[in-house]
Amino acid sequence: MRGAEDLETQASQEERLRRLAAAFESRFGRSPAAVAAAPGRVNLIGEHLDYNEGHVLPVAIDRSIMVAFAPRPDGQVRLYSLDFEQESAFDLEDIGKDPEAPWSDYVRGVAWALREGGHHLSGLDAALQGDVPVGSGLSSSAALEVAALGAFEAVSGLRLDRRDLALLGQRAENAFVGVACGIMDQMAAALSRAGHALLIDCRSLEHEAVPLPLGASGSGGGGGLSLVVADSGVRRALLDSQYNLRRQECQRAAELLAAAIAGRPVTALRDVRPEDLARHGGALPPNLLRRARHVVEEERRVLLSVEALRTGDVEAFGEMLNASHRSLRDDYEVSCPELDLLVELAWAQPGVLGSRLTGAGFGGCTISLVRAEAVEVFGEGVVARYCAETGREGRMYVCRAADGLRLHRLQRSP
Ligand code: ADP
Ligand code: MG
Repeated sequence: MRGAEDLETQASQEERLRRLAAAFESRFGRSPAAVAAAPGRVNLIGEHLDYNEGHVLPVAIDRSIMVAFAPRPDGQVRLYSLDFEQESAFDLEDIGKDPEAPWSDYVRGVAWALREGGHHLSGLDAALQGDVPVGSGLSSSAALEVAALGAFEAVSGLRLDRRDLALLGQRAENAFVGVACGIMDQMAAALSRAGHALLIDCRSLEHEAVPLPLGASGSGGGGGLSLVVADSGVRRALLDSQYNLRRQECQRAAELLAAAIAGRPVTALRDVRPEDLARHGGALPPNLLRRARHVVEEERRVLLSVEALRTGDVEAFGEMLNASHRSLRDDYEVSCPELDLLVELAWAQPGVLGSRLTGAGFGGCTISLVRAEAVEVFGEGVVARYCAETGREGRMYVCRAADGLRLHRLQRSP
């Protein structure tokens, strides 16, 4: 089973820090000052709610991008990627993209966004390495942006509010790299706390840590539960066009409902309640009604999930995950046969409390809440069977709820 091999080959954090520092030293001929590390994330529930200004509930995972760095006095930035075995350098006074090393654009983008935000930056040397799977929907890009922001913040003597830091990362990705994304990923990478999920109100950007009863994380209620991420191996071919279409559909549905609902402002589907939809759903054509129903009910499910987690009702939380998947499949229509298969195999497995697709859909990953003693069987009964039936490279990651951005000072070797 590939998932189990994956677990064994994941190097410990100490080992990664040591290797990264050694690579920095051999590249730049001096020791790094520190290492900034930021995690990938999965969204537990609240899918496609960010642009509808609702709530989302991501959790930072114990896979991260690490950036070892030391300041430079000359306004130059020299980067080395261990994973791409490639260097890329730029001048802070003249920041453009590097088509030869597109991974560096995320770092260039945050330097650009910081300067645009009026911050004075120091140059730096940096070596970076990550173990967040790339392009699976676990947001390696936000991890890289947030870790790079942590490095620039430290060398430049800045003290950024963590929410502002997340906004700078989002700005880098939107305006510099050129990818439309919401604020969830960067906030999760910047603000999460180990053992907790992060409830984010995507309208106000208020946020709150919600304790998770994951036994394996050594925190929370010790309910003996594991969070299992299963990667379908399907890369999201339809995603861009369908994602933009869903955004337009939601906007249109909100406009039509705003006209029907008198006496209360409706600027996004966030403002629509289940009873509004029951009364005024007739104002929408059938496909928009389905989209709106997903958003309105998913928003309710997020808040009920938080309540269930707070009271330790993990069965109720699992049911919310299942209902979310059905809604994404039938009403929002962003699933695909592979994601449905992973979820259905999980549903049929003993010890699985809930399972659903996570991320924008059309490929990427599912998450499942699994009793710790059933995780191994999950590998056989879900991931191995999925691989056999589809011929795809499915993988699984058993995740802990990790901290957001952290700065590691390195111990000097004697
Ligand atoms: P994801 O869903 O993982 O965020 P994206 O396409 O948004 O996928 O971002 C992936 C990109 O982020 C990679 O193509 C690469 O440019 C950059 N990236 C991710 N991980 C690393 C890494 N370990 N080292 C360098 N760049 C990375
Ligand atoms: Mg990304």
